Amino acid sequence: MSKGNISVQAENIFPIIKKFLYSDHEIFLRELVSNAVDATTKIKTLALKGEVKGELGDTKIEIKVNKEAKTLHILDQGIGMTEDEVNKYLNQMAFSSAEEFLEKYKDDASIIGHFGLGFYSSFMVADKVEVITKSYRDDAGAVRWECDGNPEYTIEPNDRAERGTEIILHINEENVEYLEDNRIRELLSKYCKFLPVEIKFGTKTETTYEGEGDTKQEIKTEVDDIVNNPHPIWKKKPADLTDDDYKDFYRELHPFSQPPLFWIHLNIDYPFNLTGILYFPKLTNNFEVQKNKIQLYSNQVFITDDVKEIVPEFLMLLHGIIDSPDIPLNVSRSYLQSDANVKKINTYISKKVAEKLQSLFNTDRKSFEEKWKETSTFVKYGMISDEKFNEKAISFSLLKNLENEYFTLEEYKEKVKSNQTDKHNKIIYLYSNDTKAQHSYIKAAKDYGYDVLEMDTIIDNHFMQHIEYKGNEVTFVRVDSDTPDQLVQKEENRESVLSQTEQDKVKDIFTNAIKNLGGGHIELKPLSPTDHPVTITKPEFMRRMKEMQALQGMDMNMFPDSHNVVINSNHPLVAEKLLKMKSEDKKADFANYLHDLALLNQNMLSGEHLSAFISRSLEFIK
Ligand code: ADP
Repeated sequence: MSKGNISVQAENIFPIIKKFLYSDHEIFLRELVSNAVDATTKIKTLALKGEVKGELGDTKIEIKVNKEAKTLHILDQGIGMTEDEVNKYLNQMAFSSAEEFLEKYKDDASIIGHFGLGFYSSFMVADKVEVITKSYRDDAGAVRWECDGNPEYTIEPNDRAERGTEIILHINEENVEYLEDNRIRELLSKYCKFLPVEIKFGTKTETTYEGEGDTKQEIKTEVDDIVNNPHPIWKKKPADLTDDDYKDFYRELHPFSQPPLFWIHLNIDYPFNLTGILYFPKLTNNFEVQKNKIQLYSNQVFITDDVKEIVPEFLMLLHGIIDSPDIPLNVSRSYLQSDANVKKINTYISKKVAEKLQSLFNTDRKSFEEKWKETSTFVKYGMISDEKFNEKAISFSLLKNLENEYFTLEEYKEKVKSNQTDKHNKIIYLYSNDTKAQHSYIKAAKDYGYDVLEMDTIIDNHFMQHIEYKGNEVTFVRVDSDTPDQLVQKEENRESVLSQTEQDKVKDIFTNAIKNLGGGHIELKPLSPTDHPVTITKPEFMRRMKEMQALQGMDMNMFPDSHNVVINSNHPLVAEKLLKMKSEDKKADFANYLHDLALLNQNMLSGEHLSAFISRSLEFIK
């Protein structure tokens, strides 16, 4: 037996390990199992090269808990280590790099969590660690290394006969949770689910049947419980996979979700290495719950499900897996943001998503349209936030009108250009964000032969501004922002049936009758006799200002709800009935009533005002 001191410059690194890794104790298991996987992968590679004598045999990794002895065991049948290697790897190298790292980042515990401390992270949970290992080299005897959490270690020969390594952790008092089967199972499923070597944890009973009919027998056998899937589909070739494979894998990741809309299989090896599958989920109203569902792996080892820097923000609602050994895991967030590889990955993913959408659009437009409601959120957000994506998406981004017809931006422009170009040569895109509330306005617009778009998602306001900004000949106008003849201003002023004096009279009646206008104004317009007698309009510009202010969290009461009252001087109720009324009181009453009807149509009557209106209506009917 020999003794030695682990080479550390600092007094004692163990307190630092324990202190700064506190919040992320659990990663020790990931680190140890990853080492076991590496050792196993190495022996397989050597075997392929013919450098291993005899049969390779079983290469499973096994995790065992011994509750009485308070030990946790990680066993592999990998390359193992010679005494020299133990000295080199466990006593010198591994430790000095860990120390250096901790020194540098000790103020930022969150980073440390992302960095695998490797073998020494075991001291976060164990008072004493034993390593029993035998190298694959046939002249090497087995050795046992032991260290109890200070820089002293012992190393001695051991009679282990099989190739490979067993790590024994003597779990300390504060971490007894790691002696619970359930806890270990949970960690294995979190970090080791897709590791490339089979991992056994206990056994399970498998039921099979033998014989037919009456002689049918149930046979129960104890088999190894393999907790991981060593061949996840993202590592396979897309050509070897069916739609069902992708859907099954999605279900494995998100057991209770609806099937995904479609997916993208990522696979690149230059200029960086990245594989993975990104799914477009069926979106629900609750975006928050669906966010952060992309997991980052490095060579099938789970790293994190916080991929903000790696995936473009507009794709954060996608689900799935990204696996890349080229993403630096041991550095800070701000560094990650400026990392050239990370930027490239971001660009690559965004490009892939655009290509996929384009190909879906090209090959099956109908099905693309059916999924548009869901995909549009990604596409619109992407167009607004990512210039490159915008350039690509212009050709497949769709507008939907109230007839449920879909148009590309180009197609729509062609459709409405002739009829909806105003006197300033702007092409007016009419839209509704609430078809129920704006029903009569929509009808009026359609009566003028105009087409109306449906723009009713949260992102549409920004999207419309984006389209206006990008193609400066287009303006979006909500159907209730002006009277139908003026939605697309064409300078055709209809003749008024009333003389100027009569028009002034009408205006006076309304001005005296209507009390709270909230800053808006009253105007007379010679509309068609079939248009409404009185219409409330909310100018597009004012409304958007208010919406912007609301988004910035300003107090909306500072700005009165401004609306204009447009009186149709050609409507018989105004031109004839109102003017012919005998008393001034009656005229004021009637004007008020028409105004209330218009308010009602905009859903702007409520409370006392609405009750009064209903009482008055009942009076009228009598
Ligand atoms: P890293 O894995 O990042 O190199 P570690 O501290 O985890 O750092 O391990 C240090 C070295 O010890 C490894 O590179 C490897 O050479 C050796 N090692 C650790 N665990 C095993 C194992 N189970 N089998 C064989 N070698 C191992």
